Amino acid sequence: MVFELSSYKRGEDMADCIFCKIVNGDFNTKFIYEDEDAVVFNDINPKANIHMLVVPRIHVESLNECEDTELLGRLLNIVKKVTKQENIPSYRTVINTGRDAGQEVFHLHIHILSGDIKL
Ligand code: AMP
Ligand code: ZN
Repeated sequence: MVFELSSYKRGEDMADCIFCKIVNGDFNTKFIYEDEDAVVFNDINPKANIHMLVVPRIHVESLNECEDTELLGRLLNIVKKVTKQENIPSYRTVINTGRDAGQEVFHLHIHILSGDIKL
């Protein structure tokens, strides 16, 4: 059987997706914020004084595969909520899409960076 590149190109599915495992609580990751759509936690390799990741609960490989525009809006709203909660008035958001752009984890996520940003 020949698989379409789009669905199997990474050789990775939800079962071995690190962010799915974090969302499921497999690593007891501390969530800075969570709701029905997403969780927010600190990046393990911070590129700024503050470096958080907004990760949707559903597994979507990247922005290119996300059909749910309402979810995308709610994810941006979570950026607003968590930065307000954490008293971060000024920040940069980044979404890496595709390996050539630096995407390493193929589960959609939004970086939030603030303070001495090295990215
Ligand atoms: P990207 O390059 O946009 O795919 O970003 C993936 C980010 O996930 C990188 O900044 C990594 O440091 C971060 N990361 C990878 N594994 C973990 C983990 N177990 N916990 C927290 N952050 C992680
Ligand atoms: Zn995943």
